[in-house]
Amino acid sequence: MSAIDEVLEANRLCALDYDPGALSPRPRRGLAVVTCMDTRLSRKSLGLSAGDAHLIRNAGGVVTEDVIRSLLISHYLLGTTEVMVINHTDCGLLKASERELHDSIGSRAGLAGSVRFHAFTDPEQNVREQLAKLADLAWLKNEKVTVRGFVFDVQTGSLREVMQAKQQA
Ligand code: ZN
Repeated sequence: MSAIDEVLEANRLCALDYDPGALSPRPRRGLAVVTCMDTRLSRKSLGLSAGDAHLIRNAGGVVTEDVIRSLLISHYLLGTTEVMVINHTDCGLLKASERELHDSIGSRAGLAGSVRFHAFTDPEQNVREQLAKLADLAWLKNEKVTVRGFVFDVQTGSLREVMQAKQQA
């Protein structure tokens, strides 16, 4: 059975006691989480259940234009007022430089070098850079949305908060 077939089977069982009235599209905790797609960081790692929060995921947990688009929808249409940015140790994007990723993936995929993989060397520093991108957004400041950054340690399963540069002074 393929992974997709297994998921379809699990979904068939899950749908038996699915209650459409129990959940709202508005996150119960008013929370949006921007994080990596890494398998080790789960909703369970964060103590979150279905209906609690928006999980906005990509390779690395990078604040891209599309993440900002999702955060706009999350806040203005669905009422979230707190944002967590979470990177993690042992991330795939820590293991190769942008150039190496282009060489290893770009050539096989037939890319002309137009994709930015957002490789980084230090998860804490990378979180600070993502926080800085968010701090530059006028709408986020005006709306007084709380934004905090963290590194998830895949060895211990713990989150460690990353202070923004200006908060360290
Ligand atoms: Zn990762």
